[in-house]
Amino acid sequence: MNKKHERIHVDDTVLCKLCLSELGEIYSDLELAADELDLLDMPRRTFTVHFPVRMDSGRTKMFVGHRVQYNDARGPCKGGIRFHPDLTIDHVRDLAFLMVLKCSVVNIPFGGSKGGVVVSPKELSRNELEQVTRGYIRAIAEYIGPFKDIPAPDVYTDDKIMVWILDEYERIKGMHVPAVVTGKPIELAGSRARSYSTSLGGIYVLEEALSKTGMGELRKGVAVQGFGNVGENAARILYEKGYKVIAVSDSKGGILNETGLNIHEVTAHKEKTGSVRDFVGARNITNEELLACDCDVLIPAALSDQLNVSNAGDVRAKIVLELANAPTTIEADEIFFQKKIMLIPDVLANAGGVVVSYFEWSQNLNSEYWEEEKVVRRLKNVMISAFNDVYGLCDEEKCRMRRAAYQIGVKRILHAERLRGNL
Ligand code: GLU
Repeated sequence: MNKKHERIHVDDTVLCKLCLSELGEIYSDLELAADELDLLDMPRRTFTVHFPVRMDSGRTKMFVGHRVQYNDARGPCKGGIRFHPDLTIDHVRDLAFLMVLKCSVVNIPFGGSKGGVVVSPKELSRNELEQVTRGYIRAIAEYIGPFKDIPAPDVYTDDKIMVWILDEYERIKGMHVPAVVTGKPIELAGSRARSYSTSLGGIYVLEEALSKTGMGELRKGVAVQGFGNVGENAARILYEKGYKVIAVSDSKGGILNETGLNIHEVTAHKEKTGSVRDFVGARNITNEELLACDCDVLIPAALSDQLNVSNAGDVRAKIVLELANAPTTIEADEIFFQKKIMLIPDVLANAGGVVVSYFEWSQNLNSEYWEEEKVVRRLKNVMISAFNDVYGLCDEEKCRMRRAAYQIGVKRILHAERLRGNL
């Protein structure tokens, strides 16, 4: 093992296991020097805040929030805020690093960050959710801004929460600053198509992959794990485009119908009952059964580490499109590669969200409002050209797509650092 590899393994607490394994090899392929490794290895700013919130009961409760601003060589840091009871600073750091790579892979002028609050939003009233959001923003306000670090939605945060972020920040600054946060509603300086851009961007990439590989028609259909914003929109857009969506799931379980589901009806059913389960005309399945169902394309659109050593061998899809962040563990990645399953990695597949966030930020800074057609057309161009960059390198190097994507991302970040004189 050469010195560079050793360095990566010594510091394996710093990078997520998946990044670590893939990046370890890329770093050695690219023959990175020790200073380049250090630069990629260390987030620029990592912080944890504790803030009080007056709960509906009248009692005050302390909450914990994190934010990691991993790298800003290519532009201001950019990344979502998630509300989750299991959030840890290590996970936030891994996700922040993925944001740096993602923005670089799709070549938009942002660095990467991530943040969140350790909380289960389902257990809060609407007022408590608002107070938690505002408390967190007050605690981090000094460190965010349109040219510093720009938050956005992520797991369990939505456009309503983005408005509270905007409003709290603007109260503190005493002026309007719409570009401080993206994922806002259209009526408050949001962008057309942002609400479904992660899913649509992924579908553009999928369609490009289908045409490049000559896979053509999807006879068995698509299975989507997760029915939150990303999963639901992916299922809906695929259905509206005429693809057969045979299975969907949420945290309570899934449903399957080999002849295809009417996604509009599934959405209405979920709105009424709180789950996709027990949908008439489909049979209930578990999340594990969904991942192993007989489909052409599997879309993990829920949380991390869903495809792992215990279930990757059962996957029957030909393509896995990672719309969630880090849904596949290293071991599963290797199993897919051996089984010749094409895995389109998160840093490419789900980048449509941050691409339209970039359009939103840019519209805000220029006081512009783009028509939906313009946003969608530009999203398509960015996604297809990023796919072709990655696919082209894959073809040249006969490597897996995650590796090609990381290689492109890392090179661009280091190039920016070099131009700045940091290397
Ligand atoms: N949370 C999304 C992601 O992980 C979007 C981030 C953004 O728009 O800044 O890509």
